[in-house]
Order: sequence, then C-alpha cells, then structure tokens
Amino acid sequence: MDFKQIIAHCKEYGFIFPSSEIYDGLSATYDYGPNGVELKNNIKSYWWKSMVQMHQHIVGLDAAILMHPKTWKASGHVDAFNDPLVDNKDSKKRYRADVLIEDYMAKIEGKINKDVEKARKKFDDFDEAMFRSTNGRIVERQAKMDAIAKRLADAMRNGDMADLKQQIEDYEIACPVSGSKEWTEVRQFNLMFSTQLGNVAGEEGKLYLRPETAQGIFVNFLNVQKSTRQKLPFGIAQVGKAFRNEIVARQFIFRMREFEQMEMQFFVKPGTEMEWYKYWKETRLNWHKAIGSPESKLRFHDHDNLAHYANAAVDIEFEFPFGFKELEGIHSRTDFDLKAHQDLSGKKMQYFDPEVNENYVPYVVETSIGCDRMFLSQISNALQEETVPDADGKESTRVVMKLHPAIAPVKCAILPLLKNKEELTKTAKEVYDKLKYSFNCQYDEKDAIGRRYRRQDAIGTPYCITIDFDTVENQTVTIRDRDTLQQERVHIDELKSKVFAKTDMSTLF
Ligand code: ATP
Repeated sequence: MDFKQIIAHCKEYGFIFPSSEIYDGLSATYDYGPNGVELKNNIKSYWWKSMVQMHQHIVGLDAAILMHPKTWKASGHVDAFNDPLVDNKDSKKRYRADVLIEDYMAKIEGKINKDVEKARKKFDDFDEAMFRSTNGRIVERQAKMDAIAKRLADAMRNGDMADLKQQIEDYEIACPVSGSKEWTEVRQFNLMFSTQLGNVAGEEGKLYLRPETAQGIFVNFLNVQKSTRQKLPFGIAQVGKAFRNEIVARQFIFRMREFEQMEMQFFVKPGTEMEWYKYWKETRLNWHKAIGSPESKLRFHDHDNLAHYANAAVDIEFEFPFGFKELEGIHSRTDFDLKAHQDLSGKKMQYFDPEVNENYVPYVVETSIGCDRMFLSQISNALQEETVPDADGKESTRVVMKLHPAIAPVKCAILPLLKNKEELTKTAKEVYDKLKYSFNCQYDEKDAIGRRYRRQDAIGTPYCITIDFDTVENQTVTIRDRDTLQQERVHIDELKSKVFAKTDMSTLF
C-alpha cells in the first residue's frame, strides 16, 4: 500500500487523527484514536517488558516533562540543539539545509540502484558486489556521494552555515515546490519549545518542554542508584513525551512536534562502553526482528557526524514507505551528561565502585527509539491488500493488517452469526463477558458476517469467534485465523487458552 493509503486507513479505522481537526489541524501533531491507543500501548508494553522486566539490572522511571532550565544548559541543548534552516525566496518554503543535501544524495543513490537492477535483469549469474565495485559509472557516482557526505558532516560538525549554503549552490539544488534556486542564507534554529513558569516574567521564568527524555534519567542517576542499590553496569528506562519545534514536519507521524520516546541509559564502567555498545546494537536489532519487522527492511547506519556528547553512534534504520530512515539510535554518550550536570549543579554525580574502591563518573550507552516511528514501521509493514477466496469459492480482495498478534489492538472479535436471534446474541455476550478479563475483545453484531470479518482484518484482529446455532446445542464456536483464514471448531472453554497462546506478549521472548 502506498503512503497516502496508509494515512487514510489510519483515519478511517480509528488509529490516528490529525490533532484539532475541526480547526483544520495543527501541523505535525496527531491524536491516537481507539485502535491507535491500543496498538501504541502494546508497543510500549513490548518495549517495557523486554527492557525492564526481562533485565534484572534495568529499572524504570517516570520523570516530569518540565525540568529546571539549567538542565538544558548543562546538556548543551540551549546552545547546540539547532538545525540549519534555509528559506526558498520564491516559494517561501522553509527547509533544513542538511536534509536538502541528504535528499540530493538519495537521488544519486537512486540512480545507482537503478543501474544495479537493470544489470541484475540482464545477467543470470549476477554478482552485485562485484558490479558495484567495477562498473565505471557506479564507482564515479559512489565517490561523488562519499565526498558530499564527508563535506556535509564536516560543515555540520563545525556549525559552518556558510558552507552549507555553498553546498546547496554547488550542487544546484532547487526547491522541490517552485524549482527555484534562490535561497536565503542558512541560519541556526533552536528546536526547543519554551514556556513560562507561573507568573515569573522574562528570562528568569523561562522553561523548556523537554526535547528528550534522557535528561530526566541523568539528573536522577544517584536517586535511582541509591534507592535500588544497583551496581554498575545497570540501566534506567523511561517512556514519555518529548517536544521539538521541527523546522519541516512532513511524513505523518514520522516527524512530529510532540512525540513519545522510549529511552534507556545504561551506566557502565569507563573503558567498557564499547563492549556494551556492541551488546545493545545486537539486542535492539533482535527486538525489532522478534516483532516481525523483516530483516530486509532493517539496517544499521553509522553516524558520520557524531553529536557533541558521543564517541560512537549508530542508527537502526527502517524502510518506511518513503525510504530507509532512522527508527532508533544507539549512542555511546561517554560521561558527558553526568559530568556536565555535576559541573553546573555542584553536586557529585559519582558512583562508588566497591570492586576497585574508587569513585568515578560512569559512562553511558543509550538506546533511544521513537514510539510513534515504531508505530509507523509496524503499520506500514503490516497493511496489505490481498486476494482471497470468498465463501462461495470466488476471489475477492481484502485489506488486512498483519500485525504481530501480541501488539494487535483487538485480540479477538466475538460475532453472533445473526443479530436478531436472541439465543445467538445472548451466548455471544456471555462469551464476551468471559474473555474480556483476559483480552481486549470486541463484540460486533452489525452487518453480514463477511463484512464483519473484513472490518476485523482491517484492524489486525488475530481471531474472529463466531457463535452459530451449533453453539447453542453443543457449546462449540468457530474460530477464524486472520492470516490463514482457516476456521476451526472449538469448545467455548478452550477459547481463553487458544487466544492466549497466540496473542500473549510472552510469545515474543
Ligand atoms: P532525526 O535525525 O530524524 O531528526 P534525531 O537523530 O534527532 O532524529 P534522536 O535525537 O536520536 O533523533 O531521538 C531518538 C529517537 O526519537 C529517534 O530515533 C526517533 O525515533 C525519535 N524522534 C526524534 N525526533 C522525532 C520527531 N520529531 N518525531 C517523532 N519521533 C522522533
């Protein structure tokens, strides 16, 4: 399905609505509808269970969104959490200069891939790696891309806005809307939203909405360590809202101004961080595979341009409908944050290591994933249109969301075959009342059974349970599998264990 169809589906089936839509919406903010909130909660629960519950040495936290403003001074966000902004003079559209250059590189990459695909069709025993390294045109284009990537990374690292402008001119990048090459100067734009504390006026009372959840963890490092008596290495995990005044917010819930992060900071002994970095890279990739994200849609991308606090950083990229983009970041943040807070607050942020009888500031390896991007990855991967046999043997198409059953919003639908037969509806309601304590179930009696099946397919419900006249006789129901379409007759007493076996989160571990 294309991206537009996915967005329309999300609205039609109560997953995601534009925020304050009756006022024409607020750009880059979205509301999660009845099915969306279930799916999102299940994603958070999958993350929390695997990160906190399954790790003896990771504990949870829920810090406030508003923090003392000095937090953001220490973390570097006040001075350095900027994106390079550029306007096109003709269309008056605003862009991120680095994204314009990245899009230009993606075009070159697209040309390379096209050549590869052409050659693949032409030769039977095609060796892709060999072709990429020997074909003259590809080698030339790849070298060009590498040079652009390096120059971009240098300019970003050095905050060289003049060179970013020069790059846009050198590559003759045109505005995608107007086709014009008339650009303003590139300037820095701080992404933090600010607000005011009580009635304290001016700079004195200036607060920020947190742009990441990580700092709530750093400032609580000692509170958590002392209250839980954790020994290094140990981690603190948190799920919560973050806010960024993104310059360009396109692509639905991929880039929002209000979003949710799932972050974990793992505190380690200095010198051991690379071991743990490797461990978390692997562990997090496996987490994505376990939920059913195909390997072909996942890849690592090492950062060319390391953030001021990192000594190693990698993204897990996912192939969204608009290409491979960052889904999760794994960063080795050294002792940058704890040291910065120690310096500015004057409070020691050290750990006493009983093994070496020494105090030191731990190093940190973090894993940071956007809950909304995870949601988009799952929806876009799961939503499919397919041809299936009808009840009368003909073929018809259905839209089905093949989510992993453990994160599906509704685990089973309970459907009386006919709505005006009280013996059926009464039994169906009894089945619903039995199962509702264990699962998120839905009772539906409207429309023909085939249409009800389709409605459940469209929201990814793994099982449809149908109550018919045999049920009244012998207490058996049919249970239909979303993916295989197989229908099986089972006794009502077996339903709970059957649905549980397929949909419980533990099937993922
Ligand atoms: P990008 O380069 O796409 O702006 P980033 O490198 O700034 O992302 P991080 O600061 O590493 O992102 O944030 C960690 C995670 O938070 C990202 O991997 C992403 O999943 C999520 N995230 C960041 N910004 C947004 C946003 N504006 N909307 C939704 N999710 C976001």
